[in-house]
Amino acid sequence: MILYDPVITTVHQDYGVMIPISASRANKIIDFLRQNEALDDKTEIYNLAQAVSVIGASGDIITRADLEQTHDKNFIADLYGQGLEKRLLTAWELIDKDGKPNRYEPERARKPLSALFGVVLKQVAGTYLACRLAMQGVDRDNFCYYLGGGMHHARYDAGAGFCLLNDIVIAAQKILTETDSSLVWIIDVDAHKGCGSAELLQFARKVGKLGGEKNILNLSIHMAHGWPLDPETIAETPPGRAPLIPCDVEIPIGENREAEYLQELKEGVRKLEELSGGRKPDLTIVVDGADPYEHDGLPSSRLLRLSLEQCVERDLFIYKYLRERAIPSAWLIAGGYGERAWEPPAHFVCLTAS
Ligand SMILES: [Zn+2]
Repeated sequence: MILYDPVITTVHQDYGVMIPISASRANKIIDFLRQNEALDDKTEIYNLAQAVSVIGASGDIITRADLEQTHDKNFIADLYGQGLEKRLLTAWELIDKDGKPNRYEPERARKPLSALFGVVLKQVAGTYLACRLAMQGVDRDNFCYYLGGGMHHARYDAGAGFCLLNDIVIAAQKILTETDSSLVWIIDVDAHKGCGSAELLQFARKVGKLGGEKNILNLSIHMAHGWPLDPETIAETPPGRAPLIPCDVEIPIGENREAEYLQELKEGVRKLEELSGGRKPDLTIVVDGADPYEHDGLPSSRLLRLSLEQCVERDLFIYKYLRERAIPSAWLIAGGYGERAWEPPAHFVCLTAS
C-alpha cells in the first residue's frame, strides 16, 4: 500500500529555495503505477486523514513532546519561537560562510520561509503513520510505501542537508514508547550517509533512552566520499558529532564499486541480524533514497551511480528479505533529485504489486 497526501508536497521554489527537488515526483510515480495497472486492492493509496482513521488516532499526530523525545529541547524551542527562520536557513544551507544567500532567492518567494515548518511536521506525521499502517497489517504483506519523509541528516540540535527534523528516529522512538515493540531497524540506502540518525541514536543511548531491551539499529550504505563525508565538512565537525559518528552497520561504497553494492548490502543486513542477537525487529524503516541512481540530478550524489536495474534489485532484496520473515516495513522516499528521480521507486513499487 501507498501513503501519499498532496499536503506534504514541498514546492521549494515557493519559498525562494532553489534546489532541484521535483515537486511532481510523487505524481509521476502514481501515474506510472496506474499506467502499469499496479494500483489494485493490494496497492491502495491512503492519504494522511485516512491513515489517521485506520489507526484510530485523534488530536495532533506528532506533538512537541515527540520532537523533544528525539531532539535537543532548546533546538525544538527555537522552531516554535523566534529562532525558526535561522534554523531553516541552516538546514537548507541557504546562507554561505560569508553570510550571502546560497541557492536562495527570497525575492522570488510566494510564501514565508517559516511556513516550511508546518509542511515538515506533516512529513514527520506521515512517516509515523506509515510505520503504524505497516505494523497494523493494512496491507497483507505489512508493507507501506510513503511518498514522503526520510530526513536522515537532521541532527540532535540542528537541521542539515535539507532536513530539519529527523522523522525516522522520531517515528521509531515514538513507536517504542507507545507500543510493546522493542526493536526497530533502519535500513538506509540513500546515496548520502544517514549521519543525523547515527548521531541521534548515539545521544539517545548515552542518556539511557535506547539500548538493551528497547533499541533502534541503523544500517547505512552510502558514498564513501562526498558530502557529508567530504574533507571540508569533516574538518568543521567537532569530535563525537555527525557525520563522524559511525552507524551500527556502516557500508561506505567507493567510486566505481557499483558492482559490489548488492553483495555489500546483503552482508550488512547479515551484520544487522548479528547485532540483534537473534531478535526479530518489530518494524523496519527503509530510507529508500533514489539518489544513488545514475540519472540523479544532484551534483553531490554523483560518486555513486547505480543503474535502474541495480536500484530495483537493491529494493527487491530488502523487500523480499523482510516479507519472508514477516517483518513489517515502512518505506520512505528520501533523497532523489531532478526529473528522473521518480523512476527507481516507481519500478520497485510496481513489482511489489505483481
Ligand atoms: Zn541523499
